[in-house]
Amino acid sequence: MNKMRHYTLVAAAVLAGSLGAATFDVAVVGGGPAGIGAALASAKSGAKTVLVERDARLGGTTVSAEVLPIGLFHAWNRQVIAGPCWELVTNAYVFGGGKLPDFPKLNPRDWGRHCLQVNPFVYSVLAAETMEKAGVELRFNAAACGVERTSDGWKISLATDEGIQYITAKEVVDATGSATVAAFAGAERVRADDVQRQPGSFFFHLNTRGWKFDAAAVDKAHAEAVASGELKPTDIHIRMSDYIRAGGGWGCYVPLADNSTATARAETNRRGRETMLRVIRFIRRQPGLEKATIVSASPEVGVRETYRVVGEKTLTEADYLAGTVEPDSLCYSYWFIDEHNAAWKDSHQVYHEPGKVGTIPLGTMIPKGVQHLLVAGRAVSSDHGANSALRVQASCMAIGQAAGVVAALAAKRDVDPREVAVEDAKRQLKAIGAIVP
Ligand SMILES: Cc1cc2nc3c(=O)[nH]c(=O)nc-3n(C[C@H](O)[C@H](O)[C@H](O)COP(=O)(O)OP(=O)(O)OC[C@H]3O[C@@H](n4cnc5c(N)ncnc54)[C@H](O)[C@@H]3O)c2cc1C
Repeated sequence: MNKMRHYTLVAAAVLAGSLGAATFDVAVVGGGPAGIGAALASAKSGAKTVLVERDARLGGTTVSAEVLPIGLFHAWNRQVIAGPCWELVTNAYVFGGGKLPDFPKLNPRDWGRHCLQVNPFVYSVLAAETMEKAGVELRFNAAACGVERTSDGWKISLATDEGIQYITAKEVVDATGSATVAAFAGAERVRADDVQRQPGSFFFHLNTRGWKFDAAAVDKAHAEAVASGELKPTDIHIRMSDYIRAGGGWGCYVPLADNSTATARAETNRRGRETMLRVIRFIRRQPGLEKATIVSASPEVGVRETYRVVGEKTLTEADYLAGTVEPDSLCYSYWFIDEHNAAWKDSHQVYHEPGKVGTIPLGTMIPKGVQHLLVAGRAVSSDHGANSALRVQASCMAIGQAAGVVAALAAKRDVDPREVAVEDAKRQLKAIGAIVP
C-alpha cells in the first residue's frame, strides 16, 4: 500500500471513530462523589476503568460549589458507609490538618459534627492520586456528549479541545449528577420543576470575620433594604450581623437555581454574581464596614437538583425514612429529608426514628429500558423527598461504590447489570471494605 493511501485510510478510520477509540470494561462519566466511588470500586474489582470529567479536576459539587462538609458515614453511633471513599475522605481530612472525632461517642443527632469538613484543594488532588494508584485512567476536560450502542457495549463521544474523541466500554456508570448519559441512551428523566426545585446556595467569604460594628443598626438597615427591594429576602436569609461577623459563607440563597441546561446554568451563575455584588455593596455602605470585601467565592452557585432518572425502582420518602431493606439494597444512606425552601423557615425536614437508616436498592440505579448502564449519585430514581436526603455526598459515594462493583461484575461476565446476583455484588462490596445492608 502506498504511503498516501495508508494515511487516507487511517484518517478516514479516525474520523469514523472506529480507530483510536480506547477500550475499557467500565466507563464512569462524572468525577463528583458518585463518580469517584464508582471508579475506585470498579478498578478495585479488577475492571479496566476510565473516568471522564468535563472539568479540570475531581470533586464535582464538593469542589465547584465548595460543599465541604461531607456526610454522613455514621448513623446512630455506628458506621454505615465505608470503603475506598471513606478512606479518601478521612485521608483528605487528616492531610488537611483535621483530627477525626470518635464518631460512636458523638451525639447521634449532631449532624454537623458527623460531617467531615475537607479542604477542597487537598481533597481534589488526593482523589486524583488515589484514582491513579488504583489504576483508573483519568480523562479530564472531556464532556460526554453522546453514546451509541455497539455489539458489545457503548461508544461514548467526548467533546474535547481537539474535537470529538471516542472511547468504548462494556458498561457505563453515569455519575453526572443529572443522568445526562442515561438520557443520551434513551432513559426517561424527571426534571425538578419550578414549584418543587430547591434554591441554590452561593458560598462567598468576606474579610469581616470578627469585625466590630453596630449589629442592631446593620440588621435594621438590612430589613429596610429588603423592604425597599434593594436586597431580596433570600440574598442573606440569616441575620445580617451574624453573617458579617462570621465572614460570610453559609446563608445566601439563589432561588430557582437550575443547572438542567447549559443556558440555565449560566443564568443561575449570573444571578449568583448579581446577588454577591448586591450584598457586598450593601455591607460596604454600613458604618465601620466600608473596607469589607470578598476574599473568596466558590467557583459557581451550588445547585441542589436537576434531573432524576426513571429507574426500575423508585425510592420513596416513606421507604427511606422507614429504613426499608429491599432484597437488592446495596448500601445505606443516612441524612434527614432536607427540602430547602427559598423562604428558609418553610424548609421541609423530617428525621428518621432512632435506629432507622435508609437503604438504596440497585433497581434505583438501573434506568428503565436501558441495558448496560447504571446511574449513580444524586440522580438515582427517587421521589423528591427521598432525593433531598440521599443527595448528600457520603450517600452518593456509597451509591457510586455499589454501581462501580455491579458494573465491574457485569463487564467481567458479559451480562447486563440486572443479571448480576445481588449476593455477588454484596460479597465484592465487602471485599473492598464497603458496608452493605
Ligand atoms: C448548596 C448545596 C449544599 C449542600 N450541602 C451538603 C452538605 O452539607 N453535605 C453533603 O454531604 N452534601 C451536601 N450537598 C449535596 C452534594 O454536594 C451533592 O448532591 C453531591 O455532590 C452530588 O454528587 P454527584 O456525584 O451525584 O454529582 P456532582 O457532585 O454534581 O458531580 C457530577 C460530576 O459530573 C461532571 N459531569 C457532568 N456532566 C458531565 C459530562 N457530560 N461529561 C463529563 N463530566 C460531566 C461534573 O462536572 C461533576 O464533576 C449540597 C449540595 C448543594 C448544591
